[in-house]
Amino acid sequence: MNKIIAANWKMHKTAEEAERTINKMKELLGGKAPAGREIIIFAPFTALEASSKCADGFASIGAQNLYPASHGAFTGEISPSMIKACGANFVLTGHSERRHILHENEKEVGIKTAFALENGLNVMLCIGETLEERESGLLSNVLERQLILGTNFNHGLLDNARFMIAYEPVWAIGTGKSATSQDIAETHKICRSLIGKCLGEKADSIPLLYGGSVKPANAGSILLLDNVDGVLVGGSSLEAEQFCPIINA
Ligand code: PEP
Repeated sequence: MNKIIAANWKMHKTAEEAERTINKMKELLGGKAPAGREIIIFAPFTALEASSKCADGFASIGAQNLYPASHGAFTGEISPSMIKACGANFVLTGHSERRHILHENEKEVGIKTAFALENGLNVMLCIGETLEERESGLLSNVLERQLILGTNFNHGLLDNARFMIAYEPVWAIGTGKSATSQDIAETHKICRSLIGKCLGEKADSIPLLYGGSVKPANAGSILLLDNVDGVLVGGSSLEAEQFCPIINA
């Protein structure tokens, strides 16, 4: 399986800035993803169309959120068909900033995930514990609950859509403090077994990524760990000069 290197640009970059960053990435990587690597960029809604046109085969483009309805009186929200019309084919669900800053609960994350898959989007579902939950010995319980609710959809949908999980400890996101290799290896082992429990025979084809302060200096060792199929990168994905060494790590 190719290692998946995904960028989460959060609320950064206008359409023009996104295009400039993708063009710089293409220049640094010789126009295509290196062998053994797949690139996905989660861009802000307003940069989806420009990013999709610019990426064109070099990277897949995804949105960072969706609303689980096809249309209607949902001011400020975006539907899967609107995302697809911009040329994007992925969406992130359950990112910790949406869970903790925007108060999305686990059930809502599950509903969004199911709706996205039912409506032709590929999904990267983010899961992860807070420091308080980890220190209280609740790591497995939290991950299990998030995975059960996050995979509460017709598993037959996975025959036609791509589904990936990103394990992102909340305490490691945007803090500069990555989990240790031992933490990542141990937690990914737990996640793998929970994914098996939730998705049965479909589980083996589901990539499991790590996210949380991944940077050029630690990406190579993280990507070598067992059960790590890729990385989801926030801060270090904003500049092509920082992100390309992670892609090549
Ligand atoms: C993220 O936003 O998913 C993330 C992992 O951020 P950072 O790399 O900045 O910790």
